[in-house]
Amino acid sequence: MHPSKSSCKTFPLVLATSNIHKIREFRAMLKEVPNLDVLSLLDFPHYQLPEETGTTFEENAVLKATDAAAALKQWVLADDSGLVVPALSGNPGVYSARYAGKDATDADNRKKLLFEMQHLMDDDRQAYYECWITLASPEGVKKSVRGTCEGKILTAERGRGGFGYDPLFVKHEYSKTFAELEESVKNRISHRRKAFDKIVGTLEALAIDTACTT
Ligand code: IMP
Repeated sequence: MHPSKSSCKTFPLVLATSNIHKIREFRAMLKEVPNLDVLSLLDFPHYQLPEETGTTFEENAVLKATDAAAALKQWVLADDSGLVVPALSGNPGVYSARYAGKDATDADNRKKLLFEMQHLMDDDRQAYYECWITLASPEGVKKSVRGTCEGKILTAERGRGGFGYDPLFVKHEYSKTFAELEESVKNRISHRRKAFDKIVGTLEALAIDTACTT
């Protein structure tokens, strides 16, 4: 039997991101894990993530998690994610955050996506979000998991919530975009949630084993 919560210290876990939207989504999901003290790179302003040189989401998630864990000497959870459009040969893919250029805003990236897809109809507007989450200790990778969320890209933006490509993305069997849905609904059905569900057990065991005394 697990020890009671009261005999436990908290276990610090650093989210390897300073993206406030990702931090918000992870914090909401991590509420399910007892004994965690959730930090992010906003708590370590002197540390900078390495350049994302990987060619896959998995490589970039591992790169971010291992670099941050070694530098900060903490357990780290890193997410690398993006939007994949098969009719655009998989773009924006790993370039999702910088699709319209190095300093592009989310709005710039959406505008470029709409432009690139202007000639595409119906089935060719299929797309999916992909998320890889890597858990690492200062010694290296402990676990990497993947989650996806399939849907389609609209021809015009709708909604003010979410971030990134959310005003353009409608999940299959839904009518609202991710930017129109309640945040709690997105957090139940997203690619990030699907990946999170595969790692939450590991986090629970880690938090209990490491933080609890007896
Ligand atoms: P990363 O920070 O390198 O993983 O890049 C993530 C990029 O992928 C973001 O800047 C968005 O453009 C896109 N992205 C990832 N997850 C989401 C999401 O949940 N909604 C909308 N866009 C997302």
